[in-house]
Amino acid sequence: MAEPKFLAENMLGSFLACLETARKFANALIDGTALWKSVDDVAVEQIAGGLRSARPLNSFKSVLLPARELVARYGEGEQKDPLQEAADSTVALVGVRGCGCRALAYLDAVMLNEPPESFYRVRRENTIVISVDCAEAAPTCFCDLLGGNAYPEELFDVNLSPVESGYVAAAGSKKGSELLEKNQRLFSEATPAHLEQMRQMRQETAEQLRQQNREYTFPEDFQEDLPQSVEGMFWRYELSGCVQCGGCTAVCPTCYCFLLYDGERAPGAYERVRAWDSCQFSGYAVMAGPPGATKPDPRREHMSKFQHRFAHKFWYDLVNWGVLGCVGCGRCGQTCPGAIDLRRVLSEVKKERVEHG
Ligand code: SF4
Ligand code: SF4
Repeated sequence: MAEPKFLAENMLGSFLACLETARKFANALIDGTALWKSVDDVAVEQIAGGLRSARPLNSFKSVLLPARELVARYGEGEQKDPLQEAADSTVALVGVRGCGCRALAYLDAVMLNEPPESFYRVRRENTIVISVDCAEAAPTCFCDLLGGNAYPEELFDVNLSPVESGYVAAAGSKKGSELLEKNQRLFSEATPAHLEQMRQMRQETAEQLRQQNREYTFPEDFQEDLPQSVEGMFWRYELSGCVQCGGCTAVCPTCYCFLLYDGERAPGAYERVRAWDSCQFSGYAVMAGPPGATKPDPRREHMSKFQHRFAHKFWYDLVNWGVLGCVGCGRCGQTCPGAIDLRRVLSEVKKERVEHG
């Protein structure tokens, strides 16, 4: 890859303008909170603020896997192919964090596994990823406990590292190199002082993470720890805070459960829609059955749904895909009305084994 460049803060707007995609989304600072927003809906100053904040509260998942998506049309009338519509739309994501890049790696492993999920595949192919280092961590972030760093290491096209009065811009792919090359008028050479500021900022965020997470102990062999802990009293305590709102799975960049339903959009014309589901909802996994009969439900108990979320991310995903289903972004802990923090639950799993194993 080419040498890193320097993008001055007052060139950020021009950089966003040079992204030749139909839709652009970026981190933007709104009333003190960073959020993913359409670039058209916010000012460039808000994006500059968002790129220097802790990771956004929501994730970019809704761009690649929309909360509600038309996947088929059938019956009479006009038949536009929804997959072709998805394939025709190009997207830029500006502000994907280190944890976000690892979430992309996870979604790629699950969705692009043969046979690939067609809608995800076409969107992924048409997405340019502009990532950014975390100049600070959110209080619930714990990427470090899972072996991650607060800066992107893979799957980005261009990475921006916030430094004084601008960003160090580094290409991570051929697409990214071409983007920097084509728009070289926007950049100057990154100086040794810029690179030193980048190194220091990375070190400071790593230290912030180390300090805020020092009380937590994570199980390395969760597969062995979980079965031994399922009767632990801490599960009952944590469960008592859960109101099954599904907030944790909605904000999670790696949760992808969905349901399909069909509807009639006009007389004789039908559509099939895919919508987000949550393993925490009471109706999740309930199967059809005869009228009046109790419907089969493999996870009827709330506790089994609750424990399943942890087992899926820290056990089954390793077995099935060879990667963890959690990237330590801490969004679930920040969102949960019951203040259920995954770091605390996992640390209790470990303690249970040490005390009773
Ligand atoms: S966000 Fe909290 S309360 Fe809501 S479903 Fe998740 S764990 Fe339960
Ligand atoms: S489970 Fe929580 S911490 Fe892990 S990736 Fe999902 S939202 Fe982030």
